[in-house]
Amino acid sequence: MNPTQSLRDDLKAVLLDESTIARRLDTLASELAALYRGKPLVVVALMNGSYVFASDLLRRLDLPLEVAFLRVFSYSGTASSGTICFHESPLPSLNGRHLLLLDDILDTGATLQAVCRHFEALAEAESIRSCVLLRKRTPRHHGALADHVGFEIEDLFVVGYGLDYCDRYRQLPVIGVLRDELI
Ligand code: 5GP
Ligand code: MG
Repeated sequence: MNPTQSLRDDLKAVLLDESTIARRLDTLASELAALYRGKPLVVVALMNGSYVFASDLLRRLDLPLEVAFLRVFSYSGTASSGTICFHESPLPSLNGRHLLLLDDILDTGATLQAVCRHFEALAEAESIRSCVLLRKRTPRHHGALADHVGFEIEDLFVVGYGLDYCDRYRQLPVIGVLRDELI
């Protein structure tokens, strides 16, 4: 029996399973390692959605990086509220260092755009790049594009691997779509 079987039973479809995600993280990590080797790096992961992605990706990165977490949110239920809220927590100094932003999913792009603008306005980092695990093919897109993308997915509301529905399903190891009657 799978330890998260009862959560999996709530899915009508699995889009990405554990091994598919793991293989993609291997290649993303080598891409990032080649890019940042020899450069002082700060990774800022957007909470809460990117905690699993950040944890799995960074454990594949053999670089002397510093990791920090920034809490932002725009979603309520299954739709973006359009307003990006920041919960400022102290972040490491970015002076003379390269910044890599990590997020779980790019939908409209508004979140990533707001966060990029925030760090651009600080004008401290040597460079700012972003990496998202998922990017939706959606007509709603109007914000930032990510520099590195794990997977392009259809325009569906997905859960698992850090992504929630009303704060549930984050610990599901796969990424999938909930059964209609649960939403
Ligand atoms: P954006 O600002 O790009 O429209 O939305 C990005 C944020 O919305 C993501 O960081 C994520 O927290 C949330 N989000 C967007 N699409 C989904 C989705 O399909 N499922 C879940 N659980 N969250 C999503
Ligand atoms: Mg998020």
